[in-house]
Amino acid sequence: MSTLTEHQAIKDAAALLRAGKLCAFPTETVYGLGADATNADAVLSIYETKGRPRFNPLIIHCADLAMAESLAEFSPLARRLAALWPGPLSIVLPQKPGNGLADVATAGLATVALRIPDHPLALALLRETGRPLAAPSANPSGKLSPTTAEQVRRGFAGAVPVLDGGPCQAGVESTIVAVDGDRVVQLRSGAMPRADIEAALGVKVDIAAENAAIAAPGMLLSHYAPEAQIRLDAAPRPGEAFLAFGPAPDFSGPMRNLSPSGDLREAARHLFSMLHELDATGAGAIAVAPIPDTGLGEAINDRLTRAAAPRG
Ligand code: AMP
Ligand code: MG
Repeated sequence: MSTLTEHQAIKDAAALLRAGKLCAFPTETVYGLGADATNADAVLSIYETKGRPRFNPLIIHCADLAMAESLAEFSPLARRLAALWPGPLSIVLPQKPGNGLADVATAGLATVALRIPDHPLALALLRETGRPLAAPSANPSGKLSPTTAEQVRRGFAGAVPVLDGGPCQAGVESTIVAVDGDRVVQLRSGAMPRADIEAALGVKVDIAAENAAIAAPGMLLSHYAPEAQIRLDAAPRPGEAFLAFGPAPDFSGPMRNLSPSGDLREAARHLFSMLHELDATGAGAIAVAPIPDTGLGEAINDRLTRAAAPRG
């Protein structure tokens, strides 16, 4: 690509992303399926397009340290890790309240995984877009991560626009670490070797089982779980809270409606905030109306089922 057409391609991709559309882009690890992380509908399109049946917290890509610092709290140790950016290292940090991130982007968690990718096109796109971008690998759920634009096009049968930057360097996902007080814990191995992080920081990096919940207060629990007991496919009993879907029944207790019209996308957009709100009422249990198990309903039900599972 000549510099001129490349510049235009970046402008076009940024315009799509700012308008809430998806656009795939290259990073040094794999191609990412990008969406404006401050736009819940855009993030939900990632789930629909990938056919992903589960809301995991997504890695949020930033243009620079200033953008990252607007989203999360950096301890001095976190700042030292961030000195390894740009690079294939995602850092899990406490979110800054009111940072504008859609809660579906972080699966309702109080933390967020951030990184600055080391790829000129990704950085140019992030700068031009001016928004943090959620970007899981740009492949249908269950398929291999793509390392060329052609693989992305084929994977989604041409339905997703792709900013073409040639083949990716690493071909494996970023390493994910969390900062837990004065410890650095690796949550997922990836393109930045643990030994490199240790050598650069002069600290030991512990290994956690993937998705392990680490006992720092509210820090690393990788799945949001309400305090209240969750009862699925249920009608509310007196003393409970109720999460409705579709026409609301007559109920005098605390109630939220995921979507009065029965729209699954609207329901997904409201899921985490409404669970948080009902949980905050202090009700011992939240009854949840039946939700169809199709499309985004699958991810909604997966999340609710896990929230309903007994915990140790
Ligand atoms: P990806 O699908 O490439 O965006 O990777 C997302 C993965 O990053 C998730 O499945 C988690 O394992 C991890 N992750 C993202 N955000 C967090 C977080 N706040 N806490 C713990 N792990 C996270
Ligand atoms: Mg993937």
